[in-house]
Amino acid sequence: MNQPIPTYQQLLRDSGLERIDAQVLLLHVCRQNRAWLIAHGDEMASAAHAAAFAALSARRRAGEPVAYLVGTREFYGREFAVSPAVLIPRPDTELLVELALELAPPAARVVDLGTGSGCIPVTLKLERPDLFVSAVDVSPDALAVAMDNARRLGASVQFHESDWYAALAGQCFDLIVSNPPYIDQHDPHLQQGDLRFEPRGALTDHGDGLSHLRAIVAAAPAHLVPGGWLLLEHGHDQGAACRTLLHEAGFAAVATRRDLGSNDRVSLGQLVRPDDCRA
Ligand code: GLN
Repeated sequence: MNQPIPTYQQLLRDSGLERIDAQVLLLHVCRQNRAWLIAHGDEMASAAHAAAFAALSARRRAGEPVAYLVGTREFYGREFAVSPAVLIPRPDTELLVELALELAPPAARVVDLGTGSGCIPVTLKLERPDLFVSAVDVSPDALAVAMDNARRLGASVQFHESDWYAALAGQCFDLIVSNPPYIDQHDPHLQQGDLRFEPRGALTDHGDGLSHLRAIVAAAPAHLVPGGWLLLEHGHDQGAACRTLLHEAGFAAVATRRDLGSNDRVSLGQLVRPDDCRA
């Protein structure tokens, strides 16, 4: 016997998902927005919509992140393409962007190390067209996603495949920003939620969580002009360690800023003494 055909609202209710996740997946399948759901929620779902929604709901129930299922995530008011080759952009990282926008002088040269989806450099360029923005990532698959985002959103950003500064020899910047993999390899969060599906190498250094931060700080003076800034995103318990690293590398005006959740999230410092980049 045929099952009665469910309405769109019934699909949502019976999905076994959190309502917001179910809505996002259903609207993705139907290529519609919330207003459409309010108007058409009581209509019979088409067989194609119901089948596609059932497939995505099953994957969500198995833990796959919504952002990977729909292929996009909003960051700083814009929609970025994401795939399992890149970390899903987090609201925490908007703090890094805001600080960079405050500190970058007119026409500054900015580089983002470990760019992933490219949400940082693309946002910086679109918010501040005067900036000269470049970005590197060690993963060619991540760079493909980042370049696609830059092209689609119309941001002119120079991308390089590079293990941190490897491809930047002799290049000088006014601002270096990075959201590197900073999670301790033993942190239980790696076994929970979305993180289980994200690229391991974008989350953890497979060590104490500080090794990439150390490498980025240590080599920054060779790539910063006098007066240039280094901005690092880090874990909520890594602020003191990052400030020590920055002091040891000769940075001044060292400070840590909190994110919207009141966690230490970004540490920064200004290079005062000239090193390899003389103005
Ligand atoms: N902020 C991310 C998290 O804790 C981690 C991002 C990173 O390692 N750079 O989920």
